Amino acid sequence: MDKVESFKCRILTWDEIAKWTEAVAYDIADNGFRPTVVIGLTRGGWVPARVICDHLQVKRLYAVKTEHWGVTASTDGKALLTQELNASIAGESVLIVDDITDTGESLILAEQHLKTMGPKEVRTATLLHITHSKKEPDYYEVEVPDEDWTWFIFPWNLHEDLRTILPKTLYEPKTVTGIQKGFKDQFQIDVPEELLRRTLRHLAATGKVHKKGAKWYKA
Ligand code: AMP
Repeated sequence: MDKVESFKCRILTWDEIAKWTEAVAYDIADNGFRPTVVIGLTRGGWVPARVICDHLQVKRLYAVKTEHWGVTASTDGKALLTQELNASIAGESVLIVDDITDTGESLILAEQHLKTMGPKEVRTATLLHITHSKKEPDYYEVEVPDEDWTWFIFPWNLHEDLRTILPKTLYEPKTVTGIQKGFKDQFQIDVPEELLRRTLRHLAATGKVHKKGAKWYKA
C-alpha cells in the first residue's frame, strides 16, 4: 500500500475569524494608516476584507483573484493572477487583504499588479502569516512558525476542504466511525458525525465516492 497521506489541519471558527479580523483592523488604525481602498484577494481574503472595511469605514472594496492552491493543501505550482483590478486606484491608499500568507506568492503578485496602477501607497494585511512566506504582510494577527505548518480550514472553505480531505481517509473500506478516526489520525481534526455524513452525501452525489456496498453507507 502507498504511504497513507497525512498533514496537520485545524478547523477555525467564525469567532476566531471575527477576533483576528478586528485585531488587524485596530492595528492598522492605531498605526495611523487610513486606507481609502481595500482589495480582497479572492477567494480567501474576501470575507476578512469586507469585515475590515466595516471596522475602518472604507466604502471602496474591490477584488483581485489569484490562484495557487487549486485543491486543499496542494499547490499547482506558481501563483497566477487570474482577475486583474477593474477600477482606478490612482492616488489612493490601498490595503490588500488575504486570509493567510503561506508561500506569499499570491500577495506578492497582487502587490506588484496594483503598484503598476499609480496608487499613493499599498500596504498588506492577513489574519495568519506562516514564517517561511517570501513576503511578510505589514499587518497580521497570528504568526505560525514553519515547523508548525498547518492547513487552516477557514469557515468559508469548510465543506470544500472536507470534500477534498475525506477521500484520503478511504484508502481502505471504513464505517463512519472509522472515517472519523481517519480524520483524527491523519489530519488531527475532530469532524462531527452529522458534518461527516453531509460530506459523504455531497461526494456520493458527484460520484467521488460510491455508496453501493460501502461500509459507511446504511441504506
Ligand atoms: P500563498 O501560498 O501565500 O500564495 O497562499 C495563497 C492562498 O492559498 C491563501 O490566500 C489561502 O487562501 C490558501 N492557503 C495557502 N496556504 C494555506 C494554509 N496553510 N491553510 C489554508 N489556506 C492556505
